[in-house]
This record gives sequence, C-alpha cells and structure tokens, in this order.
Amino acid sequence: MINVILLGPANAGKGTQAKRLTHELGIPQISTGDILRQAVKDETTLGKQAGPLMAAGQLVPDPLVIAIVKARILQPDCQKGFILDGFPRTIPQAEALERSLAESGMALTGVISLEVPEALLLERAAGRRSCPKDGSVYHVSQNPPKQPGICDLCGTPLIQREDDQEERVQARMLEYREKTEPLKAWYAERGLLREVEGVGAPDEVYGRIKQALGA
Ligand code: AMP
Repeated sequence: MINVILLGPANAGKGTQAKRLTHELGIPQISTGDILRQAVKDETTLGKQAGPLMAAGQLVPDPLVIAIVKARILQPDCQKGFILDGFPRTIPQAEALERSLAESGMALTGVISLEVPEALLLERAAGRRSCPKDGSVYHVSQNPPKQPGICDLCGTPLIQREDDQEERVQARMLEYREKTEPLKAWYAERGLLREVEGVGAPDEVYGRIKQALGA
C-alpha cells in the first residue's frame, strides 16, 4: 500500500506528477481542488460555499475539505493506496488526516514536497491553460496542445483558470507560505518529508519523486 501526499504551492506540478503516479501505480489521485471545482460547476451547496473563496485564491474552510477527504479515502479504490494532491494544506487538515488514517489502520508512505522558485511558479501560472471539460492541463510554450487553444483529448476550447491570474496567484502564494509551508516541519518531525526539486522537465521531476519514494 502506497499512501503519498504531494505538497507544494500552486503550479509546482502536483497535478501533473500525481497523474503519472496514478497511471504507474494504479492508485487514485485525490485532488481536493478538482473535487471542489466539480462542486462549483455542479452548483452544489459545497460548490456555492467554496466558489468565491477559490476564485479569490483563498483556502476553503478546513471542516469542508476534511469531510471530503475522510469520505474519499474510505472508498474501495483506495484500498491499495492513494495520491493526495492539494491536501492537507493546513496543520488542522494534517492532524485530521493522521487521525482518520490511524482509525482505519492506514499510514502515510511519504510526503513529497515539490520545491520550485516563486518566479517560475508565476511564469507557469501565466502560461497554464486547462480544459474545463476533462481537466487536462497544458502550458502555452512548455507543453502546448497540438492545436493552439484546443484540448488534445476532447477538442474543448482551453481556458485560463480564474485563479491563475497574476494577483490571484500572488494571493495563493501567500496562503501557501503562511498556512501550508509549516506542514513541511510537521512532516519532517514525523520522518515523512522528502523534498524534491520541481524544476525541469516533468519526466526528470518524476524520476526524482520515484527515487524519493524508494521505488
Ligand atoms: P488546487 O487545484 O489544488 O490549486 O486548488 C484550487 C483551490 O481550491 C485552492 O486555491 C483552494 O481555494 C481550494 N482548495 C483545494 N484544496 C484545498 C485544501 N486542502 N484546503 C483548502 N482549500 C483547498
């Protein structure tokens, strides 16, 4: 069983790397950002609460995201493990996760912290384009779709996520520094933290992650 957390600021590459791990290990990617975006699209109660905060680059309250993840990791497809992408983002979320896993007799394999300089995070955000239908992610110069502005997989016109606009990205960076970065020390104390350089081609970063996981 491999239970991994991908930690890192917005645009560090968590989603891209989580998808590769999922593909290779056959265990699900649990992205709280994707789950919340779907809830916003479906206009559920959760979506209505989360939407304005997400658009402003702020965190959604802990109890809401904790409830999502607690239910999700108990699903049968998580029995062989899971990749958490974008959760936990605060110490209370990490504590809640620790309790939930202990109650179910599970434990974390490791916490991968993707390290990327802030200037590069901003550059990535400016060029990132997403498919609103299937969630595929591209970059205008680093990872362009075959036809500019169109999703390779489903032909849907690509968009720039509202929260990838520069001032929102700055807000998300601040949230990360204040609320999420302290998790590194928290997991280091537990012997779980693996810092991985997130700069370079996705393949190179993936190689480093596998090495850090001892795979
Ligand atoms: P992401 O796609 O992971 O960058 O998440 C997009 C947005 O969803 C974040 O900026 C937050 O507003 C919200 N979000 C996702 N995961 C969490 C979480 N674990 N805690 C609080 N808010 C979250």
